[in-house]
Amino acid sequence: MTSAGTPRILVIGGGHLGLYAAERLHRRLQPGEADLTLAEPLTYMTYQSLLPEVAAGNVEPRHVVIPLRRALPRFHIVNGQVIELRHADRTARVRLVDGEERHLTYDHVVVAPGAVARTSPVPGLAELAVGFKTLGEAVFLRNRVLIQLSLAASTTDPGVRRRALTFVVICADYAGVEALGELSDLSMDAIEAFHELRREDLRWILVEPGERIMPEVSPELSAYTSDVLRRRGVEIRLNTTISSCVSGRIRFGGRYADDVVEANTLVWTAGVRPNPMLDTTDLVRDDQGRVLADAYLRVRGAPGAWTGGDCAAVPDLIRDEPNALCEPTAEHAIRQGRRLADNLIAEIRGERSHPPQLYRHRYAGAVAGLGRLQGVAEIYGVRLRGAPAWLLHRGYHWVMLPSAARKARVLTDWALDALLSRDISALAELEEPRKPLQTAARAPSLVTQGA
Ligand SMILES: Cc1cc2nc3c(=O)[nH]c(=O)nc-3n(C[C@H](O)[C@H](O)[C@H](O)COP(=O)(O)OP(=O)(O)OC[C@H]3O[C@@H](n4cnc5c(N)ncnc54)[C@H](O)[C@@H]3O)c2cc1C
Repeated sequence: MTSAGTPRILVIGGGHLGLYAAERLHRRLQPGEADLTLAEPLTYMTYQSLLPEVAAGNVEPRHVVIPLRRALPRFHIVNGQVIELRHADRTARVRLVDGEERHLTYDHVVVAPGAVARTSPVPGLAELAVGFKTLGEAVFLRNRVLIQLSLAASTTDPGVRRRALTFVVICADYAGVEALGELSDLSMDAIEAFHELRREDLRWILVEPGERIMPEVSPELSAYTSDVLRRRGVEIRLNTTISSCVSGRIRFGGRYADDVVEANTLVWTAGVRPNPMLDTTDLVRDDQGRVLADAYLRVRGAPGAWTGGDCAAVPDLIRDEPNALCEPTAEHAIRQGRRLADNLIAEIRGERSHPPQLYRHRYAGAVAGLGRLQGVAEIYGVRLRGAPAWLLHRGYHWVMLPSAARKARVLTDWALDALLSRDISALAELEEPRKPLQTAARAPSLVTQGA
């Protein structure tokens, strides 16, 4: 506690769990009841479930992020990365963008740095592949697809054209399928504007190490999704991995072991692992690196530490299986954030009438968009497909989007998108903002000094 006895609460990570927990603390705690700090490298929370719509160009990138300072005006926001957490001493070390380090002290900490992409030691992967978890990646991939169409339309070399028009997506969980669904739909829409190219020139390959795509939904909906994608011309390679992708030459393992495909674009969505930042903490973790939580969302054996979301192993009390854990989904992270905040407040206030409560949530299911008017959904066992599923996907995420202003902007984007043809401008310049000035500085000046 501070000298005045005011508890200090530090939230690490302003993503789904962090923002929802912080909002609840912000709303329920009286001014002066606690000192509130949030440490997060970004200035905003990213609503990841709408990234596929950003990649498709249906929603503006800024409209799927929530500025933390607007959402949490009573919080002290420290924009930096937590690089060490010593809970035994109640301190966190934060590195700011300019390299400065700050030490933060607290009484309660909410540990919510989420997860990072799970990668494999595939030669060439780091040079070629792009993930699909951040806003930057979604924007980059949209531009990348459109730039490749322009390249293919402009070149006279058939090899260059083939390579530019080949897109490979690794792993067919819902994030991978949604990424492929929206990006392939974008490419097929955009290609109509290129009279040098035909739809059949596009090659989309979805690679899945498992037996079927979208393991999150029933086999029936998974088969339906495969049909939709195949009708669109997508090649689905099941029981397949990639063994190398050096210089864009993608070699496969498993069923397609003899095949090599050349592509400029490889999207990597092979699952997630807990944020490696957790290695720098003294919190107890499981064999997969997740922070061990109890069903009250407290870190086991660490009074004053709370956790949830993708970085944590939280017991799932609804599933009737021994040692069942909550899946790493936004659906859980959002609800855990609210429950965690209520429990933390109950502990601070020590009110016997409102003790902390167990986290229980019956997982609703998955909704996925596959491109305009196409989707699949399985909510509480009810299965939808096609346009109704697509509408449900949009409706669900619109309701969950954590800001009235963002809801209004996203709705406007969708309305304009329905009325106007899709925007196919590729903002390639964004990737090299210094280039014009560097080129100008290198060019000999025609104006002599003093002229
Ligand atoms: C493309 C895509 C689509 C998805 N669609 C769905 C869906 O339809 N339904 C669903 O339920 N789930 C979906 N998910 C999963 C869902 O987004 C995650 O489960 C959810 O974001 C987890 O929340 P979190 O708070 O644990 O992590 P995040 O929301 O990722 O937040 C973690 C935060 O911690 C910050 N951070 C990282 N390192 C540090 C550090 N060292 N110090 C301080 N802060 C740090 C990050 O910047 C980030 O803001 C999707 C995910 C993706 C990528």
